[in-house]
Amino acid sequence: MSQYWSKVVHALTPYVPGEQPKINNLIKLNTNENPYPPSPLALAAIREAVSEDLRLYPDPNADQLKQTIAAYYQLSPQQVFVGNSSDEVLAHVFLALLKHEQPILFPDITYSFYPVYCGLYQIAYQTIRLQDDFSLHIADYQRPNGGIIFPNPNAPTGRLLALAEIENLLCANRDSVVVIDEAYVDFGGTSAIALVDQFPNLLVVQTLSKSRSLAGLRVGLAIGHPDLIAALERVKNSFNSYPLDRLALAGAVAAFKDDAYFKQTCAAVIASRTELVAQLEQLGFEVLPSSANFVLIRHPAHDAKQIQDYLRSKSIIVRHFTQARIDQHLRVTIGNDAQCASLIVALRDFLQGH
Ligand SMILES: *Cc1c(COP(=O)(O)O)cnc(C)c1O
Repeated sequence: MSQYWSKVVHALTPYVPGEQPKINNLIKLNTNENPYPPSPLALAAIREAVSEDLRLYPDPNADQLKQTIAAYYQLSPQQVFVGNSSDEVLAHVFLALLKHEQPILFPDITYSFYPVYCGLYQIAYQTIRLQDDFSLHIADYQRPNGGIIFPNPNAPTGRLLALAEIENLLCANRDSVVVIDEAYVDFGGTSAIALVDQFPNLLVVQTLSKSRSLAGLRVGLAIGHPDLIAALERVKNSFNSYPLDRLALAGAVAAFKDDAYFKQTCAAVIASRTELVAQLEQLGFEVLPSSANFVLIRHPAHDAKQIQDYLRSKSIIVRHFTQARIDQHLRVTIGNDAQCASLIVALRDFLQGH
């Protein structure tokens, strides 16, 4: 605390990201990174972009990337917004589209950055309790609101809401923006991008951090009606004209063009998830049905923090949330098969010793 701080800073409760340890050789299953490297074509494009052209500013409008994404999803570039990570895109979404008289709505168990943005931009919100099985019921969202946002699949539960349910929600909620955060949709969901031409109040947010193995590059995007995109452009151009640097633009374009590699790595993660879930259940863990690259698990007979500490002593890190309702769960990122096997060995040892 300091007398020099702006008043708003005193009241902030910042987001706390999962640990990025400085130690080597850890099995890192705590922040939902992809276990596979980025597309070799993306890496080649980034290397190629390392040139004397770095003295020049990048394209402030990221036209080539927008065209690439638009072509990929069969949209027009006016329906595409890009930013330096989906967290940054989400920040602009909260200010540009979710700050109204009525409180916005999101689930009680969800991405913990949402309340942080509400604090930063002084946006009123109301959390809606997920069902006891952590499923989301769209009927619970039928009340006056300044906007609705949730991830699909939800985080950190991994549970997927069917596209037909999102369509029902949009039919019942036409007066405010509905934001679907699809950070994990490529691991088993169906994108709501299919609905953007039908619903001018739908905004879909995606990231290259998870399914495209580019968390280090920081590229996110939003898809929606050109009027929604125009609001995001206004905020972006009031904040930073060049959020995507030359390396990020080059890598992101190439990543979208290497669809074969993308599909292959997503399929590998999904196959590992199926196998890991079966083995966890054999060990007595309860595993929430996941359509993401992580699983939320709980052992009925053992304390979550104790399991986490044991895994850490075996150089495996997983995420534990202290929030009520999930403080006895652990969120485990799907690693490659060797990492999943090491996890299972460590958990089996823990259960035999306790
Ligand atoms: C990981 C994640 C993001 C952020 O992704 P970045 O593009 O890396 O900032 C956004 N929303 C959810 C639900 C996430 O899990």
